[in-house]
Amino acid sequence: MTAAFRVPVLYYHRVSPDADPRTGVTPEQFEAQMAILRRLGFLGTSLDRALTGWEEGAREDLIALTFDDGYEDNYVYAAPILERYGFVATIYFVAERMGQRVDWTGDPLWAGHPLMEASMARDLVARGFEAGSHTLTHPDLVKIPDRLARREIRESRERLSQELSCPVTTFCYPYGSFGDNHPAMVREAGYRAARTVRRYRFGGRPDPFRMACRPVSGRMGILRFYLTLLSYRMGLRGGDAP
Ligand SMILES: [Zn+2]
Repeated sequence: MTAAFRVPVLYYHRVSPDADPRTGVTPEQFEAQMAILRRLGFLGTSLDRALTGWEEGAREDLIALTFDDGYEDNYVYAAPILERYGFVATIYFVAERMGQRVDWTGDPLWAGHPLMEASMARDLVARGFEAGSHTLTHPDLVKIPDRLARREIRESRERLSQELSCPVTTFCYPYGSFGDNHPAMVREAGYRAARTVRRYRFGGRPDPFRMACRPVSGRMGILRFYLTLLSYRMGLRGGDAP
């Protein structure tokens, strides 16, 4: 593991014409962002593939694109844009909520938005996307007993891999919330990595089960997006070791 052994990770929620800027980006914003990635020489890919690419040869052009919750709009709007650029991504599904609507919060910003059907997820997997786990029901792991947390982490992996007929190798903590004991549960459940919502910071010790990322919402202007990605490209910051 060297200091240069880094994978930058972007983190999105919704991509939709009606997305509130706090919950997502419009398809036009998303397209402009993907054009910037390409212009800077990045290849947008899944977290699993990015980690493998780095392990096999420090591919500095790789950037992991990740989407939390598995919104139906990711299928409708984000996937076709990604594919126009030759990119794929990781989508973190809530295993027991596929084909349903967001019910884990009453916050009107989030509640009620439709989540992808399993058939759409299977289609994306066939197109090279990664299906990651975001638990069974989207609990705050810190607020439930260890026994239940372990089940949310382990059974979501089994269920998704069965239902989508694919390996499920990366995990994402709901609300970005985890305690000292949860990263070990993720590792013991057979995942290779877990993404948090923590931002990069200098001097942080990289940990594959506490991966940092850069959240992208509709409030991030295009210039800031460009400068952030430019700094990753120049190796100034960003990225965790696998
Ligand atoms: Zn979530």
